[in-house]
Amino acid sequence: MSNFKLLYKILRLKGLKITDYWFKNRNKELHLSIKPFKNGCRCPVCDRRGKIVVTSTALRCWEDISLMGLKVFFWYAPKEIYCPTHGRIQEEIPWADAYARITYRLEWRICSLCQIMTQKAASEILGMPASTLSNLLHRIITKTREGHKIRGLVTLGVDEISFLKGRKFVTIVYDLDRSKVLWVGQGKGRKTIDKFFDNALSDYQKSRIRWASCDMSLAYTEAIKHHCPNTTLVIDRFHVVKAMNEAVDEVRKEQWREMDPEGRKSIKGLRWLLAMHSTNRTKGNTRFLNNLRKGNRRIHRAWVLKDEFEHIWTYKNKGCAEKFLKKWITTALRTRIPSLKTFALTMRKHFDNITAFTDRNLTNAVGEGLNRVIKIVKNRASGYRNLDCFSDMIFLTVGNLDIPAQIPSNLRTL
Ligand SMILES: [Zn+2]
Repeated sequence: MSNFKLLYKILRLKGLKITDYWFKNRNKELHLSIKPFKNGCRCPVCDRRGKIVVTSTALRCWEDISLMGLKVFFWYAPKEIYCPTHGRIQEEIPWADAYARITYRLEWRICSLCQIMTQKAASEILGMPASTLSNLLHRIITKTREGHKIRGLVTLGVDEISFLKGRKFVTIVYDLDRSKVLWVGQGKGRKTIDKFFDNALSDYQKSRIRWASCDMSLAYTEAIKHHCPNTTLVIDRFHVVKAMNEAVDEVRKEQWREMDPEGRKSIKGLRWLLAMHSTNRTKGNTRFLNNLRKGNRRIHRAWVLKDEFEHIWTYKNKGCAEKFLKKWITTALRTRIPSLKTFALTMRKHFDNITAFTDRNLTNAVGEGLNRVIKIVKNRASGYRNLDCFSDMIFLTVGNLDIPAQIPSNLRTL
């Protein structure tokens, strides 16, 4: 077997031909002079074979994945060809993207490494500076996202997460059926979400969205109602329960402030008890809460209302759920407890969107699950300098990008 053939087999250069090789930099770099075999002289746009116009353009160099710590470089002088449709054009390079300085294989390796580790760790493994890697990754993600369109979106989810130590927010849009992140935008509120609807979706796509889930912030609910006329909006149940618990806790805090040290002792540990779901309570817990009727009427009242409210999720029939919620709101408004009143009014404002859960038991649970992955990514890197880096990592880990699909199958070796 000749040396060329050996290298060809080891490096798996299918469809390419090695014409020369040499070592450089004290045998730390392997340079190969290669050329496309069979597939040469094709137009990058239409893939048609063209006539060569200029043969000797300048030599170009691509970095490939390293072999046993040995850096591998490809050398080739791309030809200029003439395509009947596209005119004079540089021929397609089978192993790399036009204007890229690294091969597809290296691009893929960068992506796969960054999916499971920090960019810094990946840069150490690949032996390239972290800033170079970050730039390369940004270029790959941007390129993949450009060629990617949102398809078949039926169930939409919107949520926000904090970033930069809670000082800034990003709005994240999910495809809840496919559990993927579709879009990441800086900021929260109406302006940000409008940007998604205006730029990322066509009118037809907006009309095809059947379901949407978000929290109770008016910015999101109003935006979804405005842009997607055929959508049934379901308020995320977890956000409702969270708001309910906060309202009850507000009553506890207010009572705590008014109490003397002796009284405070008697309601110690109540915070967690109040937030607990009724099925998770022990008998002793329930007895303790029932005793509050004599001890602290206000907290007891709030707790009973909260326990009652849990029933709403058991309804299957929309009419029954509506009747129940209407009655519950009236009772809550009569209590003269400000935080519960506020909550009841919020419920009234979102009435149709809360009872809509009977149509489809849609929650943002998938979104919350993705948020957890995003948080891991965020903590792994102990924060990001800017949104670009952060959204790159979000798209890379939980985005709807099909990165290997962009890379020819014969070059997908890792
Ligand atoms: Zn062409």
